[in-house]
Amino acid sequence: MKRVLIANRGEIALRIVRACHEEGLEAVAVHSAADRTSPHVRAADFAVPIGPASPTESYLSIPRLLEAAEASGADGVHPGYGFLAERAAFAEAVDGAGLTWIGPPASAIRAMGDKTEARRRMEAAGVPIVPGAVAPLTDAGAARSLAEQIGYPVIVKAAAGGGGKGMRVVTAAEELEPALVAAGSEALKSFGDASVYLEKFIERPRHVEIQVLADAARTVHLGERECSIQRRHQKLVEEAPSVAVSDTRRERMGAAAVAAASAVGYRSAGTCEFLLAADGSFYFLEMNTRIQVEHPVTELVYGVDLVREQLRIARGLPMSVASRPLHPRGWAIECRLTSEDPANGFLPSTGRIEYLRPPAGPGVRWDSGIDVGNDVTLYYDSMLAKLIVWAPDRPQAIARMRRALEELVLVGVATNQGFHVRLMDDEAFQQGDVDIQFLDRRSDLLEPRPDTDRELQLAVAAALAEDAARRARRPLVTADGDGSGAWGRLARQEALR
Ligand code: ADP
Repeated sequence: MKRVLIANRGEIALRIVRACHEEGLEAVAVHSAADRTSPHVRAADFAVPIGPASPTESYLSIPRLLEAAEASGADGVHPGYGFLAERAAFAEAVDGAGLTWIGPPASAIRAMGDKTEARRRMEAAGVPIVPGAVAPLTDAGAARSLAEQIGYPVIVKAAAGGGGKGMRVVTAAEELEPALVAAGSEALKSFGDASVYLEKFIERPRHVEIQVLADAARTVHLGERECSIQRRHQKLVEEAPSVAVSDTRRERMGAAAVAAASAVGYRSAGTCEFLLAADGSFYFLEMNTRIQVEHPVTELVYGVDLVREQLRIARGLPMSVASRPLHPRGWAIECRLTSEDPANGFLPSTGRIEYLRPPAGPGVRWDSGIDVGNDVTLYYDSMLAKLIVWAPDRPQAIARMRRALEELVLVGVATNQGFHVRLMDDEAFQQGDVDIQFLDRRSDLLEPRPDTDRELQLAVAAALAEDAARRARRPLVTADGDGSGAWGRLARQEALR
């Protein structure tokens, strides 16, 4: 493998370009008409336009991607996450075209993609699953007796599910039938498949997932990520390790994840998601057969480059991870910066990035797919960038994230930056006292608050004024510089000119 086509966009495409270059591989970017000037396109060695902005005609089009691979002379394909990453047919098409697929075998993608089949397989492999159905429900009567058997509350889920769609929590028998109908029709709309099943609804669990890495000879785990900070089943903040996972629990959950991966003949990087209940029991939820958004927190505490490992494994090389037991070092936190407007019910915000000052400094990693001049549209996911920090322990990681969030200045679209600041300042979060319903109870954190907003707006104003002054080549402020906050910092900088 010499030249890798990256069938994706945004931050993950750029992330993969970087790994390719460090591995001595050439990178081919593909882009829709909307992404011509995106950072991933500029960073790659070759760029191939694959169609209009609409994903179905570009990033989701298997024929266009294969044509792009052929035209650019690529001999490998990395799918990233989202788009076609978990489409077994895409993995097969790539193989069929004689190219190297940088991901798990199509059979493993398929086995884990069907949730009830995955549950059956996991049960057979001795991996604990949430009590409930291991096949799609056939009628309301069967659903009722199963629900009675496992006890309410239960959750109805789409067999072909993903992205939190087609799920309904049911607390009493009379709500069951309407929930089956609603989940079924949502599933049909989202996945073209109305099959649903049900399982026990676990009260206030944590979402804890295990990173797995498998090559031809070995399957290992790289510990957990805590992803309980979710809004509408979408993760917003992730960390590694988890305050709720001791060394013994990590080994137990890790062994379950390795068993899950082995049961489907897994290769490459993958993630087993678990619900961890308050009593310490844990249940397999699903396996994501791809690199995940939140992979960097694991990279920082384990000192591994997961995308590089994917490239090595795809080339038939052994993973470069040691076979002795690995331990996380320090603490990492990731905040997903999205173009969602807290002042407008978290609806996506669109516009042109007018100004961007990414955070930097010790322990800060900025994985972003945007730059000044880029347009944020409604065509793609609202995640603009990931801000990731590492520090020796959790309190220092939180303080570092707080500092980095203050340094970040982004002008042009509304973002959830203020939410992240409020979360870092929150006592319950600082205590690690979280579960997947945390943000349902603490919706106050999602709402704009004058103090956080004033602080962030001040930073924006100072950065813009600084930028304008720099362009005009004249000093901006002549204050004596004893003020605090963004203006004070700016004044001190000016005084040094
Ligand atoms: P999807 O594939 O749509 O993302 P998942 O099965 O991964 O669906 O579940 C998404 C989220 O829904 C989980 O992270 C969790 O917050 C919640 N959830 C799913 N199943 C249960 C359950 N049995 N009990 C409680 N919460 C659940």
